[in-house]
Amino acid sequence: QAALPASFGKAVIGPAGENRVPFACIVSQNRIAGRTGTGAVMGSKNLKAIIADGSAATFERDEAFKELQKEVTEFLRSHPMTGQILPTLGTANLVMTCAGRNIIPTRNFQKGHDRRTPELAGERMRDELLIRKDGCLSCPVKCGRHIRLGKGEGKGPEFETIGLLGNNLGIFDMQTVAELGELCDDLGMDTISMGGVLGFATELTERGLLNSELAWGRVEAYHEAIEATARRSGLGAELAEGTRALAKRRGGEEFAIQVKGLELPAYDPRGCFGQGLEYATNNRGGCHVRGSTMFLEATGPVSIDPHSTAGKPELVVFQQDMNAAVSSLVFCYFASYAVLPAFAFKLEASSAAYRLAMAAASRATGPALWLAMRMKNPAQLLWFEKFLSAAWGRRVGLGEFMRAGARIYNLERLYNLREGMSGSADTLPRRLLDEPTFPGAKAGVPLADMLRRYYRVRGWDSEGVPTPATLRRLAIRS
Ligand code: SF4
Repeated sequence: QAALPASFGKAVIGPAGENRVPFACIVSQNRIAGRTGTGAVMGSKNLKAIIADGSAATFERDEAFKELQKEVTEFLRSHPMTGQILPTLGTANLVMTCAGRNIIPTRNFQKGHDRRTPELAGERMRDELLIRKDGCLSCPVKCGRHIRLGKGEGKGPEFETIGLLGNNLGIFDMQTVAELGELCDDLGMDTISMGGVLGFATELTERGLLNSELAWGRVEAYHEAIEATARRSGLGAELAEGTRALAKRRGGEEFAIQVKGLELPAYDPRGCFGQGLEYATNNRGGCHVRGSTMFLEATGPVSIDPHSTAGKPELVVFQQDMNAAVSSLVFCYFASYAVLPAFAFKLEASSAAYRLAMAAASRATGPALWLAMRMKNPAQLLWFEKFLSAAWGRRVGLGEFMRAGARIYNLERLYNLREGMSGSADTLPRRLLDEPTFPGAKAGVPLADMLRRYYRVRGWDSEGVPTPATLRRLAIRS
């Protein structure tokens, strides 16, 4: 990026993309399109960088659109999530929440927290290291961090980087985690997948299935392994193929933490069953930003019983469809967290009133969403429909917006099916299904029942294939 004109917009790949590492990312300044190996796609086309410059408007906004933009920006700035929590603590606000919930990956998901996890808290980063907040172009939230690093300064680690390259690997020094994260950025690799692969490789080593220097907390070994992965040299040539391929070669498939080949992010689904269903059914596999159900179960201000399956299929379908529609607008999904009313953030989680409200919400979620998804709801509950209405010059209601999301989701599914990925891929690693991490629990995520119901809610058959009636309802020609 330094070699390109400073004023230009840039999207570049690093050595990992050039070497087609399947979790290579695309980097723009210090913001990263991290997941699913888009950097390898650029690399496969010998495309090193895309740059853009110019002054012409790319989209003509009328007064109504500008007014709406102003209104939503002000709203986001005033909301507890997008105006306070994310700007002041960044995504690392989740470290203590996830540790308290016992869902932050620890030693390749063998546990849900470590006594040293608080060393990596967002509050510590804010109090001891923060220089300024940072973030994507034009964003009013700015959830990124710019921090002191040794004698210099650099990018503060995101929650996922802390979870996978820190806690998961037994590294509890914030500066070290930040440096490993920056190393991945410089080489152009996703920190989630890299941390997941390293965690798996460390456990393989521990069990004598892989000969390597990797060991929990051994920073130098991890540093070298990251470099080697991007360059596909030595052990890195194996790591570069990802967790699924490594398990096929070395064994340990039951503790290979991936879904559909994508390594899982930093929310252990044994403490948020809906998120487990979401991972299993996501068209792109182990991803948390295709619905973020965990926000409504365990990491946000409300808690729809994270250890219950009730209503979770409906909730996951709703979240996935909404996310598909929101993402198609190229809107950051964090904005949707502000859909929850501000008073929800003031609720006292230990109070009887909170527990009663959450119990009622857990019971009502399934039936309410089932009904909502079948109504052609003309109301505009979210600002996303309002933006579409302003852009298209006609009213778009929640029903039409959600239907667009469902169409996207089903089309993606048809694509996967055409490419040979069947419903049998809608599952979780055995460790997450079988090994409990909570006192009194006999197993992990009870996926089978949720999955059956999920297929019914989606209008798919028992093999996870959209039925002809569903495709007709969504006006999709098979
Ligand atoms: S667009 Fe989203 S990810 Fe980017 S800084 Fe804003 S809130 Fe953070």
